[in-house]
Amino acid sequence: MSSRPLTPTTHAIEVEKPKGFTFRPTQFTFLQLSTDGGMDARPMSLATSPTRPHLEYAVRLSDSAYKRAFAALQSGDEVGVFGPIGDFVLHETRPAVLVAGGIGITPFKGMAEYAADNELPIPIRLAYSNRIEDEIVYREELGALEGRNDRFRVLYTLTRTANKEWPGPTGRIDRDLLKEAARGLEDPIFYVSGTPGMVAGTFRLLRSVGVPEAEIEFEAFRGYE
Ligand SMILES: Cc1cc2nc3c(=O)[nH]c(=O)nc-3n(C[C@H](O)[C@H](O)[C@H](O)COP(=O)(O)OP(=O)(O)OC[C@H]3O[C@@H](n4cnc5c(N)ncnc54)[C@H](O)[C@@H]3O)c2cc1C
Repeated sequence: MSSRPLTPTTHAIEVEKPKGFTFRPTQFTFLQLSTDGGMDARPMSLATSPTRPHLEYAVRLSDSAYKRAFAALQSGDEVGVFGPIGDFVLHETRPAVLVAGGIGITPFKGMAEYAADNELPIPIRLAYSNRIEDEIVYREELGALEGRNDRFRVLYTLTRTANKEWPGPTGRIDRDLLKEAARGLEDPIFYVSGTPGMVAGTFRLLRSVGVPEAEIEFEAFRGYE
């Protein structure tokens, strides 16, 4: 087990893979921790690819007993991993547009690693929204993946930045950014991950630009506003 802060408000842990544990890119598990209030298990997306040796999780910190326990984990501590669960999984033969808000990046980091490690021939575009530059989760890792896989590209937008030098778009993910992300892709699947509000808003936006419901997959992080 190892533990590290990612941004001022997010934190990641790396966990030893239980013997025989396999998963698809990128399902979730229940992650059980010992907290001040007793044992507590929450659904948590796996934040890394099955091609990697460890499991990884990342959370947005809060003052809940669960998040305090998460942030305090130290090398040697034990956690419970129950799963894998879910169908939010990369289709390996279809172009992909990934749409993430904040900590919703976790399953997409796993998908992007998987595509790079297996040299998948599909284009993958990630439209990724955060409040400010310092809160972009996994920015370095995503940059390294873009360097390794020229079919993978990230389009960032910032919703609360005051930095006039920011070269990218600002504001929420909108039609223009989605159009840019999907430009030139033939028959892409759209994957959406984030808070329930972000997922519902993006789903409506995609439907309003004519994306059929069957081409939209989503993971809503219940427990966030
Ligand atoms: C499939 C899936 C994947 C997820 N992956 C991640 C991830 O990678 N990273 C991450 O940070 N979070 C993830 N979450 C959300 C996570 O499980 C927590 O709910 C969230 O982090 C809030 O925890 P908290 O301790 O800060 O909130 P709390 O202060 O404990 O909860 C806030 C409010 O939400 C309610 N609540 C908490 N959890 C749930 C729940 N699961 N369902 C319904 N109500 C709930 C509480 O009762 C409370 O009213 C995921 C959720 C789902 C369903």
